[in-house]
Amino acid sequence: MENKRQRIVIVGGGFGGIELAKKLRNKEVDVTILDKHNYHTFQPLLYQVATGGLEADSIAFPIRKIFKGQKNLKFRVTEVKKVIPEENKLLTTIGAIHYDHLVIATGSTSNFFGQDEIQQNAMPMKSIPEALNLRSLILQNLEQSLITSEPTTKAELLNFVVVGGGPTGVETAGALAELKRHVLKNDYSEINIDQVNIYLIEGSPELLGPMSVQAQQKSQQFLEEMGVLVYTNARVKSYNGKTIELLDGRNISSATVIWSAGVKGVILDGLNPECTVRGNRLKVDRINKVECYQNIYAVGDVAAMITDETPNGHPGVAPAAIQQGTLLAKNLLNIIEGKPTENFKYFDKGSMATVGRNRAVVDIGKIRFQGIFAWFTWMFVHLMTLVGFRNKLIVFVNWVWSYFSYDRGTRLIIRPFIKGEKWKAINSLQTEESPQVGKTESPKV
Ligand SMILES: Cc1cc2nc3c(=O)[nH]c(=O)nc-3n(C[C@H](O)[C@H](O)[C@H](O)COP(=O)(O)OP(=O)(O)OC[C@H]3O[C@@H](n4cnc5c(N)ncnc54)[C@H](O)[C@@H]3O)c2cc1C
Repeated sequence: MENKRQRIVIVGGGFGGIELAKKLRNKEVDVTILDKHNYHTFQPLLYQVATGGLEADSIAFPIRKIFKGQKNLKFRVTEVKKVIPEENKLLTTIGAIHYDHLVIATGSTSNFFGQDEIQQNAMPMKSIPEALNLRSLILQNLEQSLITSEPTTKAELLNFVVVGGGPTGVETAGALAELKRHVLKNDYSEINIDQVNIYLIEGSPELLGPMSVQAQQKSQQFLEEMGVLVYTNARVKSYNGKTIELLDGRNISSATVIWSAGVKGVILDGLNPECTVRGNRLKVDRINKVECYQNIYAVGDVAAMITDETPNGHPGVAPAAIQQGTLLAKNLLNIIEGKPTENFKYFDKGSMATVGRNRAVVDIGKIRFQGIFAWFTWMFVHLMTLVGFRNKLIVFVNWVWSYFSYDRGTRLIIRPFIKGEKWKAINSLQTEESPQVGKTESPKV
């Protein structure tokens, strides 16, 4: 009898997908990894790209390079459009791809909770192109403010609003405050610094919801010391591109609203909607198998493992995706060899957020600390988790340079800010009507 090697197809070269594929190195399976980008993105530092602190290249790493020499793996740059589970087939922008086992590791995207007007006008920050687009918008608005004398328009251009007081919102507001304090003062001497305002808007009573009370209070104190106007218990009602209206009746004029108020899973078309739970995530069992299917799995942000201990699933953080990817590799091999599988158990390594120079908050189990030591811890952990020695070195040099020079060196408008249809066109590999989608024969994978 022919001993056919099983083909594992992984959609998504993020933290979960990459770790899973790495763990299958030299195993008796064929692995195909598909991603719409040819690089892996280190999302925790996207806000530094958006605020001119780091080059985009230093937080991205070519996926091909990660798998150099991994003979049982093929990588293709393609966007997966649909799954046809009954045929074990994916429809992609390069044609149909068959699988024996499918792993969905597509991550998450910004959640605007169905508010179309906000989605059209606010800025998401989930990918490198989005972070660069935001950087251009911030810098263009600053430039525009210099040639505008009309007070309302000037206020719109100089008010920066971050919505969502989780780690991303806190870090972004802190970075904008540093840009104001250290860069605008020197490089934009014509701007009256007192007219530049950074707002952070959070719907719940405190920032950094899942962290300790100490971290919540200290992060707010740090931000306020840095001049950020923190509005807690404040919910956004509408945003038309010029004015953000809060439910309590307050209004802020702003042409730059950064949306970090929530995420939802990126689910592929063709999957049974009954397998999804709140937040657009796929309901998985304790080995990350999507509950409605026998050979489809999900890891990372897109997966929701609902158990008595984790009624909301695991947190949408890199360590959860990495740990799920690691164990799933082992379990897939066990399944193929007819051996018993092992249930997933999340090891919580702690949480941290940085607010700015010498200011961060860290919770590790029962240990909590804030301030300069927390800031060094944050930097160390992020440097160590960045992929690639070159990236680590570049980021380290950048941070040391910024620390001593008080500068944010990559304030470049390389491609002017764009939004709407133009943005969609530039960011999709091929259009929805791509003739390749739906081709029945497999490309060479
Ligand atoms: C701004 C920001 C800051 C963050 N900070 C932290 C932090 O400090 N610490 C922390 O632990 N976590 C942080 N996170 C969360 C962390 O980045 C995610 O939890 C983690 O990336 C999830 O990994 P993943 O593998 O599930 O998905 P991702 O890393 O998002 O990867 C998904 C991949 O799938 C690809 N993809 C999606 N759809 C398709 C498709 N249809 N076809 C082909 N490819 C597709 C994408 O291109 C992407 O490469 C942050 C996230 C953001 C956005």
